[in-house]
Amino acid sequence: MDIIANFIDGQYQVPINQQYLDNIEPATGKVYGQTPDSDNQDLALAISAAKQALPVWQKMDLEQRADVLIAIADEIEHRSEELALAEARDNGKAVSLARNIDIPRAASNFKFFAHACSQFASEAHAMAGSAINYTLRPPVGIVGCISPWNLPLYLFTWKIAPALAAGNCVIAKPSEVTPKTAALLGEICQKVGLPPGVLNILHGSGAKIGQAICQHPQVKAISFTGGTATGAAIAQLLAPKFKKLSLELGGKNPALIFADCDFDNTVEQVFRASFANQGQICLCASRLYIERSIYDKFKQALVKKAIALTPSDPLKAECQMGAIVSKPHLDKVLSYIDSAKSQGGKILTGGQQVKLNGRCQQGYFLQPTIIENLPNSARCNQEEIFGPVITLQPFDTDQEALALANDSQYGLAATVWTNHLARAHDMAESLNTGIVWVNCWLLRDLRTPFGGMNHSGLGREGGLEAMRFFTESKNVCVKY
Ligand code: NAD
Repeated sequence: MDIIANFIDGQYQVPINQQYLDNIEPATGKVYGQTPDSDNQDLALAISAAKQALPVWQKMDLEQRADVLIAIADEIEHRSEELALAEARDNGKAVSLARNIDIPRAASNFKFFAHACSQFASEAHAMAGSAINYTLRPPVGIVGCISPWNLPLYLFTWKIAPALAAGNCVIAKPSEVTPKTAALLGEICQKVGLPPGVLNILHGSGAKIGQAICQHPQVKAISFTGGTATGAAIAQLLAPKFKKLSLELGGKNPALIFADCDFDNTVEQVFRASFANQGQICLCASRLYIERSIYDKFKQALVKKAIALTPSDPLKAECQMGAIVSKPHLDKVLSYIDSAKSQGGKILTGGQQVKLNGRCQQGYFLQPTIIENLPNSARCNQEEIFGPVITLQPFDTDQEALALANDSQYGLAATVWTNHLARAHDMAESLNTGIVWVNCWLLRDLRTPFGGMNHSGLGREGGLEAMRFFTESKNVCVKY
């Protein structure tokens, strides 16, 4: 049994209340570990450690701070195989995906923000002949970072790295569904000599320790990634407390596929955008709008690929599609497929749970599922499913495609597939999403603003946006 501990003040510590949550391996459906169900008592220890560490970390020479973050990145790379296997087991994702995307990206997050330490500059505003204003950007202080289960170490470090780079001390909480790689990050911090208390990792449920972190008066900012309903609850809780809040929430991302696209490449990329990580990426395409003249051909090409993509044991190198993260989540995804059937949807392929043999007999596997014939108002076109389920709809004009795509409460990411330059720019300008990819998907430059509009969130992560979020700006006006 793999028993995880909290990481507080540079040491692993058991939860004071001695309570644990089961950690289940999605591919087997079996409990394989225990995760602390931490509460306010553990948080008090973490806050006290962070308070002590804050002056040391804030005053550390920038080059030295950057060196520590680079050392964390190097150690993640050094332990990448172990981390990839841990991620695949904990989350159910294909180990090849963890090897090629999740773990390298976690290292990149630390490297990128290590460089930001020295590149982050502030402004001066001269008032000719009378005064000079300059902006100071001190760290916020103690900040909370709360992350979801779909890209566990990748998103955990996407928050922690800029928070540390800006000089904050961090209380971080990974998802209780996928705690393992976050737990291993503590060992890495110990090994490279991150001063104790600078990063504290508390495990447990959102309702208990997550909420406690948000509410603690010493925690001055919360960076949260997760579901829209959770984000709304946190926003409501924090509004009267005037804390800085960054919310990266759900999505219902449209893909607009025009007849003039590069057909084969678009099929390939849109398929990946739909089903990567079992469709459990907030940026995955889930509503496909296809120009009518290529609708049938495109549909057939997608269905052929979906039939060939069969789920298998995530720990095997050849696995291309792993397990759904948990039983409740599998049930939720299946309930959307039922709702599609009851609303007149036609299941073109998939729609069923898959039973594997051997060690994965009880695992949570689902066939890639493609549905057509649903109106845009159907639940499957309006609500986030967050699984390997996509819907197809034909369109006739650019205006129609745009109206369908924008008919959503969400606004995270859209993809546009066309070789018509003006159309691509028109669409990019008119789509109500924080991110638009043209003829690509998940191509990431860490300097760019990352986040969504409307019910997809508030604020942006990435590059300078993240450094600004984790600092306060203070203007100093000097008259001479
Ligand atoms: P979730 O909202 O259930 O949980 C996210 C995190 O919040 C977990 O660590 C959880 O323990 C914690 N939490 C839950 N309730 C809390 C509360 N009341 N106070 C404080 N913390 C609380 O989300 P999930 O199911 O883990 O993740 C899936 C969701 O995340 C999807 O909606 C997906 O779109 C979204 N997501 C968004 C992005 C993005 O960048 N926009 C990226 C990845 C995932």
